Amino acid sequence: MAYPDNQGHFGQYGGRYAPETLMAVLTELEKEFTRIRKNPAFNKEFSLYLQEYAGRPSNLYHAKRLSAHLKTLNVYLKREDLLHTGAHKINNTLGQILVARRMGKTRIIAETGAGQHGVATATVCALFGLKCVIYMGREDLHRQALNVLRMKLLGADVRPVDSGSKTLKDAMNEAVRDWVAHPEDTFYIIGSVAGFHPYPLMVREFQAVIGKEARRQFLAKERRLPDFLVACVGGGSNAMGLFHAFYGDSKVQMIGVEAAGHGLASGAHSATLMKGRVGVLHGSKSMLLQNADGQVQIAHSIAAGLDYPGVGPEHAYYKETGRARYVAVDDKSAVQALKMLARLEGIIPALETAHAIAYLNTLAKQVKKSSSVIVCLSGRGDKDMNQLAALI
Ligand SMILES: *Cc1c(COP(=O)(O)O)cnc(C)c1O
Repeated sequence: MAYPDNQGHFGQYGGRYAPETLMAVLTELEKEFTRIRKNPAFNKEFSLYLQEYAGRPSNLYHAKRLSAHLKTLNVYLKREDLLHTGAHKINNTLGQILVARRMGKTRIIAETGAGQHGVATATVCALFGLKCVIYMGREDLHRQALNVLRMKLLGADVRPVDSGSKTLKDAMNEAVRDWVAHPEDTFYIIGSVAGFHPYPLMVREFQAVIGKEARRQFLAKERRLPDFLVACVGGGSNAMGLFHAFYGDSKVQMIGVEAAGHGLASGAHSATLMKGRVGVLHGSKSMLLQNADGQVQIAHSIAAGLDYPGVGPEHAYYKETGRARYVAVDDKSAVQALKMLARLEGIIPALETAHAIAYLNTLAKQVKKSSSVIVCLSGRGDKDMNQLAALI
């Protein structure tokens, strides 16, 4: 099933668990999105901004030195890191702000973890002259000071969140609270394939451009389809963006890489699909890190963008049906992989992305014969330099 049912269910996952005050807004959004999704004028406008503003299509780069190093894997990197603002997030924020404009909304709110979604949101708000409020956990605010400065320069009102673990999930709660208070004029730009229906579907559709391009580019270069797709999974948007176009290509194996943090046994990780249980968070049913009492567990990853106890419902469905498999890479291996890519290819990836790169070491040892793989290079490492300076 590549599309959810009318209530936004991917199998048992997804749906819309929302406060009464938001039901009308979400229904209105769903109607509008359903209408414009197939509207040629909307799609033309979206494509034009992706091209001329964000810098699409992004390159599919054959990483020859990395491939030689890994021996059994021929690696192609889908270079989302080369897009404006440095990651795949801009695809989604451009799509959503165009929807917001069509709905006549004048105020944008968003949550952010790594700050990348906040920057991508503040960017498109500046582009269209809309008011922008960004909620960010105080913990992340410290880790990602550079992105906070970027958001402020772009004119956003950045509001620190001090509740809970002071990270992404708490910022998301705060944004929902704001939306409940201002449903009339405000549009909530969610940063991943999570949240109430129709967000998981809408965000996937806006990110699906990654896989559509990659599939076409790979076919043009190799005259066949890749054996593997590999992407890191926080909420799951860059992974789903890459995977979706290959859904029907049953021979193409999909691998989502979660953050094992200090190790899966340590409890300090963000491996929701591997270690979570079914639960409801931020408006949809999916896998969720929770303790024995069903309380949401605090996630940990060295990569702020992976540090989220939930995951998009479509990934839970992919896992349940076996369409994709999910693995995890710890903090240390991610940092090593960042260095490996830097030295071998002259590309410094984001710490989130480095998890996907790290898994190639494992995959290279598993494959029986020489295989090809497309990795979603979801973002660049500039934002992580302060954190790395402290580590190295
Ligand atoms: C935000 C972010 C992620 C994680 O988000 P997904 O929704 O899982 O894609 C991964 N990589 C980068 C560079 C990010 O900024």
